[in-house]
Amino acid sequence: MRFYIPTDVYVEKNCVKNHEKDILACGKKALIVTGKHSAKNNGSLDEVLEILKNGKVPYGIFDEVEENPSVETVARAAQMGKTFAADFIIGIGGGSPIDAAKAIALLIANPKETEEILYTPKKLDALPLVAIPTTCGTGTEATPASVLTNRKGGFKKSIAHKIFPKLSLVDGKYLAFASKELIVNTAVDALAHLVESYLNSQSNVYNRMFPEYGLKCWEQNKEALLSNSPINENLYENLMLASTLAGMSIAHTSTAVPHGMSYDLTYNFNVPHGKAVGYFLAAYMEVCEKAVPKDVRTILDLLKLKDVAAFAEMVKALIGTYELPRATVEKFATRMCGNSSKLKLSPCELSKENVWEIYEKSLILL
Ligand code: NAP
Ligand code: ZN
Repeated sequence: MRFYIPTDVYVEKNCVKNHEKDILACGKKALIVTGKHSAKNNGSLDEVLEILKNGKVPYGIFDEVEENPSVETVARAAQMGKTFAADFIIGIGGGSPIDAAKAIALLIANPKETEEILYTPKKLDALPLVAIPTTCGTGTEATPASVLTNRKGGFKKSIAHKIFPKLSLVDGKYLAFASKELIVNTAVDALAHLVESYLNSQSNVYNRMFPEYGLKCWEQNKEALLSNSPINENLYENLMLASTLAGMSIAHTSTAVPHGMSYDLTYNFNVPHGKAVGYFLAAYMEVCEKAVPKDVRTILDLLKLKDVAAFAEMVKALIGTYELPRATVEKFATRMCGNSSKLKLSPCELSKENVWEIYEKSLILL
């Protein structure tokens, strides 16, 4: 059993300002990577710029990362970073800019390689990365994964390289600028990470400390997420904490079948990541319950839910339902049956029938 997260992670109010020295210790020329708007609107970019100006650190800003970032965007940003000779990266935003920043950090550190290397296993270093998350779902600040959209290959999945941030600064205050829908969708992603890490062939008594604690934290946000009112700011830090703990969970086990199933919905129909994953969670639990009933019971107890049906109702109240033509879903199911890297992470062997059962119960088939 192994514990390995080589990232210095802080979760606290005014985290960026508190860790000025730690940021400045990461390098001498920064490439800042953000999405198009949110980092400017929620104050996170200004906080970082103030620190870099105080430290007289030259910086460039790449602010064109789209949701579900593409290999092409990563390659363009890496080109900018190479020309500028950046020696560290600061990724600010949701999972999209931070995942992109990981891949950009790899390409800049290896200027002789092209973006083809992203999906080729090879031992390569990356530039130091500072991660500043502003959504409460992916936990990418504590994982080595970078999930990219590969249009040439026609898929969305994690690149072949493991890149942990050097420093992660987690502050809930940026959630004040997020819609309730964004908070709910990303919180469902965190829930998926916790559940998929617990119901996972790589799960053990040692790494389970993360999903166990994470599920407890997540439960404390449950009522607010389900209510029709805006989220009270007192919960921002706990939402972030649940997300970071969920990241630490999948850092040890990886995500499992619901994530594998989600990527086709996002790639083909632009379904937001948290929703796309959430649709498959309850049915995955139901299938696993037959093989590992005690583990499913523990998850339900930590979430203070009676049974898997109550879990399904809760997720439905949060993200609704999704309809797709049966023929399309059959295509996705066939592809999923060949996705051995995700299937082997299930705690029990999943037959073709089990895979189809999950799709059939998770989506409304037309
Ligand atoms: P996202 O795609 O990063 O962002 C979604 C939207 O939220 C964007 O429009 C963004 O605006 C906006 N936004 C971000 N922070 C905001 C804030 N504080 N207030 C208002 N708006 C804000 O969403 P995400 O769910 O965090 O990330 C999803 C991606 O992460 C997917 O590609 C998924 O596959 C990946 N992921 C990675 C891991 C991992 O371990 N690496 C795990 C799970 C998921 P801007 O575009 O203007 O910034
Ligand atoms: Zn996820």
